[in-house]
Amino acid sequence: MSDAQDAQNGYHGVSLATLRRFGVDVWSDVEIETSRGAFRGIILPRSEFDDSTHLVLKLKTGYNIGIEIRTITAIVELGKTEAHYKIPEKDFPVSPEKPSVTLLGTGGTIASRLDYRTGAVIPAFSPGELYGAVPELADICNLTTEKLFAVFSENMGPQEYITLAKAVGAEIEAGVDGIVIGHGTDTMHHTASALAFMVQTPPVPVVMVGSQRSSDRPSSDAALNLIYAMTTAATSDIAEVMVCMFGSTSDEYGLLHRGTRVRKMHSSYRSTFRTIGDIPLAAVTRAGVRPFRSDYNRRRDDREVGIHPFFEERISLLYYYPNMHPDIIDSLVDNGYKGIVIAGTGLGHVNKSIYPAIERAVSAGVAIYMTVQTLWGYVHMFVYDTGRDLMAKGVIPTENMLPEVAYIKLGWALGQTDDLDRVQEIMLTAICSEITEREPHDGYLVFQGGMPEIEEFLKKVNR
Ligand code: ASP
Repeated sequence: MSDAQDAQNGYHGVSLATLRRFGVDVWSDVEIETSRGAFRGIILPRSEFDDSTHLVLKLKTGYNIGIEIRTITAIVELGKTEAHYKIPEKDFPVSPEKPSVTLLGTGGTIASRLDYRTGAVIPAFSPGELYGAVPELADICNLTTEKLFAVFSENMGPQEYITLAKAVGAEIEAGVDGIVIGHGTDTMHHTASALAFMVQTPPVPVVMVGSQRSSDRPSSDAALNLIYAMTTAATSDIAEVMVCMFGSTSDEYGLLHRGTRVRKMHSSYRSTFRTIGDIPLAAVTRAGVRPFRSDYNRRRDDREVGIHPFFEERISLLYYYPNMHPDIIDSLVDNGYKGIVIAGTGLGHVNKSIYPAIERAVSAGVAIYMTVQTLWGYVHMFVYDTGRDLMAKGVIPTENMLPEVAYIKLGWALGQTDDLDRVQEIMLTAICSEITEREPHDGYLVFQGGMPEIEEFLKKVNR
């Protein structure tokens, strides 16, 4: 069978020749000998994100691993697993009284694997496929989908942010009631802040969603996250760029986070997104959205939205570490970088030995901004000599802007102007809560764990 035929059958060009050479096939339960050791698991069809040099094996633990084909020395088939590769595609029911939502796809786990019942690994994206996999979606809205990219989120960057912002603008003008953006979780907070700056005061919710676990795993968060995100887009009064993801480690609710205050905080938990330096915007269940606060941009009937699609790519985010050498900064300047955000220690510090490099950078016209690697709290550069010295050299503190957000905002600001005074004005003027007047302590205490976890923890401590 040719690769093209395989692709039509849903195999996406998996190198079946390799499999057949060892007398096995997709869905074989196998023991694979490789030069790196032996592995036991089920051979999965390749998703559209995978390459042809790896074979994807589902281990007993539920994790999928990629095995480099050239390292394989033998494969023994132990059995076969029944699996349905294709999910039933059903016509998405349209009811005139339901709100209309557009799902813009960029890729990531949620787009590549969404069948939470059949256990198959599939790319589900059209409304019909999504309806086949998650029928509840039809109770929420009339759905349209548009696939903009199919990339893991580490491959998102300035060009994609701009395309996405323009697509959001076009959907708003076309009259949708809400927009959902399917995105890989790894860099969702970068894209969320880019969109928050590029799409200001939208009249409808713009909700980013992803999943930490693919839908072929029993603990997948894909379907619930999607239900929560669609519910938000269709019904929420909060019209901002938000991230909607699992709230607690149980599946009781999702949380809505502001695009400029959210961060991925755990590499594998489903409740990985946290609002930093504030409390989240709202909780969302199947019943609807429950705001925690009232200071948000409200849904409107008009179609007015300012799209500001700018980005200067030659900017950098430097995570300071003790013993950083000045040549790191020199090399950025020599390579024509226009702006640097430093994530400094404590209140916003770096070591003395890089001062001269900072001075050289500032006099070469490079904009340097300071954030804190503690994430919570403000940059305070008046407290110690180090901070005062750095400010005297031209380093500008950015209040409580998160390092990644300051990085994105600097790219966005320098994309609009080379005038560094204007850049500073843009950087230090809060546009969508990237800088806030104060950080509530309950946000720090409660929402880092999720309320049920805190209660459980306290029960144990008080026992
Ligand atoms: N690596 C993936 C991504 O960020 C993980 C995910 O989809 O959540 O695209």
